[in-house]
Amino acid sequence: HLQDNVTLNNGVKMPGFGLGVYKVEDGDTVIHAVSSALNNGYRHIDTATIYDNEKGVGQAVKESGIPREEIFITSKVWNDDQGYESTLKAFEETLEKLDTNYLDLYLIHWPVSGKYKDTYRALEKLYEEGKVRAIGVSNFHVHHLEDLMNDCTITPMVDQVEFHPHLTQNDLRKFCQDNNIQFEAWSPLKKGRLFEDPTLMEIAETHGKTVAQVMLRWDIQHGVVTIPKSIREKRIIENADIFDFALSEEEMKRIDEMNKDERTGSNPDTF
Ligand code: NAD
Repeated sequence: HLQDNVTLNNGVKMPGFGLGVYKVEDGDTVIHAVSSALNNGYRHIDTATIYDNEKGVGQAVKESGIPREEIFITSKVWNDDQGYESTLKAFEETLEKLDTNYLDLYLIHWPVSGKYKDTYRALEKLYEEGKVRAIGVSNFHVHHLEDLMNDCTITPMVDQVEFHPHLTQNDLRKFCQDNNIQFEAWSPLKKGRLFEDPTLMEIAETHGKTVAQVMLRWDIQHGVVTIPKSIREKRIIENADIFDFALSEEEMKRIDEMNKDERTGSNPDTF
């Protein structure tokens, strides 16, 4: 199940579950986290240039001995690199650090105003050249997507945004669904701030699961790609152990109703 895929609008298959490595230090720490994940069945790693750990991610992938094509690697172009030529250059540096000759998914990290359309043209070129299997955006609101889609040639395949029971993003999710854009969750565990929530604790207890597992299962049942972060092997295993139970319709609804439109990160309109 860990390799269960969603199909993107260009037919590329993307594992619906993966490991996020935000704020994981390059070198031994990230190598250990990624190795633990790969050893325990993960086949999808989410990094970004700004995380400054692409090198370690690449090393762990190489050392795993798992064929490159069995692992789905996402990276993101950082805000300072946005623009057409600078994005092409940033992409080459990312490939070099990851020690690979293609990416599975390349995203615009944030919608830098006045620049994201040029940035996206660079992504389209990389896609057409076969250097990346899928392209998309991150932290785009509906209005950013609409604006981009007025001009672009290739509909983005993914929008990766903050999503957890306190930020359910109903309008954006609907828009993505209607436009065949895969919705992907960052900070799916609200960075560890929901583990004491009584509703989640009660549902977890019913299933003999942890609160983290309930939140991640809720993502999967919503068809949302999810990339929880942990550097501890025990939690990496725990987070992936979500394919042997199901939340009822009523439990899904109870979690949906926890929404408070509350962000842990910046609002894409004001970052
Ligand atoms: P998260 O919601 O995944 O929470 C991670 C934290 O929860 C960890 O630091 C750990 O302390 C704790 N945790 C994890 N599993 C646990 C468990 N089973 N039990 C107890 N505690 C546990 O937070 P995140 O790292 O912000 O988000 C996940 C990933 O999303 C990132 O690593 C990154 O890849 C991506 N992300 C993307 C953006 C973006 O702008 N595109 C922004 C933030 C994060």
